Amino acid sequence: MSQALDSSITEPEINSIVKQVKKEIKKLESSSGSFQEDIQHANREIESLKKKVERYKNEATKDPLTKLDNRRKFDDKLKAALEEANGKGSPLCLIIADVDHFKKVNDTYGHLVGDNVLRMVASTMKEFIKSKDILARIGGEEFAILLPATALENAMKLADDIRVSFEQLDLKKKSTGESLGKITMSFGVTTYKNSESADDFINRADKALYHSKESGRNRVTGR
Ligand code: GH3
Ligand code: MG
Ligand code: MG
Repeated sequence: MSQALDSSITEPEINSIVKQVKKEIKKLESSSGSFQEDIQHANREIESLKKKVERYKNEATKDPLTKLDNRRKFDDKLKAALEEANGKGSPLCLIIADVDHFKKVNDTYGHLVGDNVLRMVASTMKEFIKSKDILARIGGEEFAILLPATALENAMKLADDIRVSFEQLDLKKKSTGESLGKITMSFGVTTYKNSESADDFINRADKALYHSKESGRNRVTGR
C-alpha cells in the first residue's frame, strides 16, 4: 500500500501541491471573505499533506521491524561521520554484528519467532550505545554500530560486552515458553583510517566479521 502511494506521489510533488494550495489561500484571503469555508478546507488539506510527507520520510529511513535506522539512513549518517572524522582527525570505529546460524532459527521455530529474535537483538544493542553512537539494521540479521570518538580497543570491548549479554539471554518462545536454546552473534570491528572511502572502511569490518565466523562464531575480531 505505502509503496503504491510512494511511487504515485513524490515528496517534491507534494511540496508543489502545498505551494499551490497556499497561493490559492492568499488569493482567497485578499478577496471578500465569503470564502471562509474554502480556506478552512484548504488548511485541513495542507495539514493532512504535511502528515503524509512526515510519514513517507519516516518510512524511508526506519526499519519497520526493529524501528532502528535502515541501511539508507545508516549510509547517510556514515557519510557525515566520515566527514567529521576527516575534518577533526578524531577516531571513529565501526562494529558489524551478525546473528549466528539465524537461518536455523527460522527453520526450527518459524519466521515470526525469527522476527522476535531480531527485535530482541535490536533492543539489546540499543542498551549498550550512547546518544552520539549510531545503531542501524543494515541487512536481514546484520546490524552496525558507528562509534564516534572511540578507540578500537574500546569498540572491541563494547562488541564483546554485547556478545556476552546476548549469549546470556535465555530466549523463549512467547506462545509456549519453550527455550530457543543459545543464540549467539559474531562481530567485526575496525577503526577508520584518515581519508579512506566508506566502502574500504565497511569492507574491513566485514572481513573481520568473516574471520569471526570462520574461526567458530560467537566472537569478536578487530582489524
Ligand atoms: P551465519 O552464522 O553464517 O551468519 O549463518 P546464517 O544462517 O545466520 O546466515 P544466512 O545468510 O545463511 O541466513 C540468514 C537468514 O536470515 C536467512 C533469512 O531468511 C533470514 N532473515 C533475513 N531477514 C529476516 C527477517 O526480517 N526476519 C526473519 N525471521 N528472518 C530473516
Ligand atoms: Mg547470520
Ligand atoms: Mg548475514
